[in-house]
Amino acid sequence: MDKLRELGIQEMVPLPQMVVVGDQSAGKSSVLDSLTGFHFPRNVTLCTRHATEIICRREETKSIVVSIQAVDADEGKAKKFRREASNLNAPEFAKIFSDAAEVMGIKSDPDGPGSAFSRDILRVEISGPNEDHLTVIDVPGMFENETPGLTTKDDIELVKNMVKGYISESRTIILAVVPCNGDIANQKILTYAKEADPDGKRTLGVLTKPDLAVENATKEVVVDLVLGRRRDLQLGYCVVKNRGADDTSSSTEARNSEEKSFFSQSPWTRLPAERVGIPALKTRIQQLLMDRTRNEFPKVRAELSSKLKGKEEDLEGMGQSRSTVDEQRMFVGEVASKFMRIKDQGLDAYYNRNKIFSENTDLKLVTRIREINERFSRVVYEKGHARKFSAQEEDKSADTDAAIKEEDSTKYSSDFGFGESFDRDDLYDNKANFNIPLIGEEDLDGLLAEPYGCAPPSDEDILKYIEHEYMTSRGDELGTFSGEMLPTTFKEQSKKWSPMARAHVSNAILIVHHFIRTVLEKVCPDPDVRTELWTYLLDDLQKRYQRAVDHAEFLLDVEFQGTSMTYNPSFWDKRDRTRRARNESLREQANAELRADRRAVDVDKIETILVMALGNEDPVKTTRQDIHDVLFSYYDIARSRFVDVLCQQVIHHYLLHATDSPLAVLSDTVVLKMSDDQLDSIAGEDMISRERRKKLNADIENLRQALKILRG
Ligand code: GDP
Ligand code: MG
Repeated sequence: MDKLRELGIQEMVPLPQMVVVGDQSAGKSSVLDSLTGFHFPRNVTLCTRHATEIICRREETKSIVVSIQAVDADEGKAKKFRREASNLNAPEFAKIFSDAAEVMGIKSDPDGPGSAFSRDILRVEISGPNEDHLTVIDVPGMFENETPGLTTKDDIELVKNMVKGYISESRTIILAVVPCNGDIANQKILTYAKEADPDGKRTLGVLTKPDLAVENATKEVVVDLVLGRRRDLQLGYCVVKNRGADDTSSSTEARNSEEKSFFSQSPWTRLPAERVGIPALKTRIQQLLMDRTRNEFPKVRAELSSKLKGKEEDLEGMGQSRSTVDEQRMFVGEVASKFMRIKDQGLDAYYNRNKIFSENTDLKLVTRIREINERFSRVVYEKGHARKFSAQEEDKSADTDAAIKEEDSTKYSSDFGFGESFDRDDLYDNKANFNIPLIGEEDLDGLLAEPYGCAPPSDEDILKYIEHEYMTSRGDELGTFSGEMLPTTFKEQSKKWSPMARAHVSNAILIVHHFIRTVLEKVCPDPDVRTELWTYLLDDLQKRYQRAVDHAEFLLDVEFQGTSMTYNPSFWDKRDRTRRARNESLREQANAELRADRRAVDVDKIETILVMALGNEDPVKTTRQDIHDVLFSYYDIARSRFVDVLCQQVIHHYLLHATDSPLAVLSDTVVLKMSDDQLDSIAGEDMISRERRKKLNADIENLRQALKILRG
């Protein structure tokens, strides 16, 4: 048991110890004083106000340390209280005790501030080569009546509960101190002891102050008790004589010899030597503790095992240890590789390989990207042009257009949407399977474009617009038009592309960002590490998004600032087809008109029809029609090209698949490149966890050692 104590096991599992209980002034402190040689400040008026634990240990070096275990006292103040004494000398201790009483808030004089008792524990640890391992506790004496101005009913209860708490512990030997000069038969403490220890296996009676029993009848009662004739305590009684109130300075030897000579008188000589005097009591107590300890072994062992299991579980719950750089790199590396695995699955649509995708359907990354790309493409094709082209044969979606018009007319006051406030989803048609996720928007400050909602193309006559442009910018060219006409009209016709493309890229960034954040949350559940890791990654991540945004700007720049350019052979085909189709439809119209009006031939009308069918006399009208046809053909090609390139380069390449895409912000390589300091600030444990882990490890080690000792 001593070996267990050396391991500090009693902090986790109660080990056999001894508590001295009894009424006020029964002589408890005196008994301890005599037993341990430790001089409690004894005072006839000032009784014990708090529990004192005296822990004696046999150790090489001599030391006496006094500290406070706070219950009522201010935790900080109590922690700071630590005194080392050089020897067990009474005045020195009297000073320490009164300082401690102040920390505990115990009042020093009846009228002073503070309380009468404190539940704080004064701990005195005495070690030295001659000490025996022994833990004894001195508690305030119990009392039944309040003293006005000094003690209250609450104090009576407080002390009673404190004493009951100590004696209820099944591994504690109860020294019940009963003075010989009082009413021996009716000691309340014996009742309490009986409650706590019904078998009486751990209660030893100690009779004090035999020298103050003057009447022979009283002495006979004492003799009867010690001889075991009362049988109320199974372990019986011992009788001791402590220092009297007047003796403040006698040495241990002097006290021992005085006691011895006292008991050599009648009637005490009739008592067996092993029940008389302090040295005998000490032997008896040690015997008792030993028996108790032996009996307790199996139970202690069981408790140690279950405690060990509990501590091991606690430690496991804390996750991997992260105190060394290697452990930290391992830890973050594992987070990174889990992240990479889920990222790859999200990009390849291998959603069945990880249950994270069925639990969080919003993580189906590539599916969502595909969906917004399709929706983007559709909306650019349907509504991306500023004005409707003239005589477009493809009026396939007439009803959709009508639907759009009705829905949009309330929403869009201008065809450009400025000054309106839109949702991120307004960019696309409303047939969405999900909403654009907005979490983490704050991380993307300065990266995201305004949300945009695309109004339907304007009904304004495009030919009139082209004519106006032509008339206000033409030069000397005859029968043809300037090279500036196409870029100018194209820019106007595609003016909604920029806000649309920017809003679309923003949406894709939001989806990717949501994915990264959510996956990181799953693969790194420790919130502290995650916050630090996030702080570390965010800068880099923003740069990666910025590359995508920059590239989108680059594409817009190329499309609108440069010359209008295409080498696509279908450009000419398309233009010619447009022309032919128009001429044919005009001819048909003319034919129909002629057929209808055959009877009344109107010369003017025939001429108009001829002009319509065969060519325009007005050169401006011919030119604007030519410009329109070139624009129509070019717009169509540029649109396909732009949508594809934007989706392919900005979104698929820069945002998803590039080696330096945002999704690659966390990888094995990134972790390998982290410096020791960076790792420590990300994955290093805070002081509290580090201490806790250290304590758990030490406890586990001690408990294992203890179990080994118990197994012999
Ligand atoms: P506690 O309140 O139970 O701790 O009692 P103390 O140990 O403080 O003792 C109260 C008083 O009784 C002190 O003045 C002691 O000197 C005195 N006292 C204790 N034991 C004996 C004893 O065996 N003989 C005599 N004459 N006085 C004693
Ligand atoms: Mg006392």
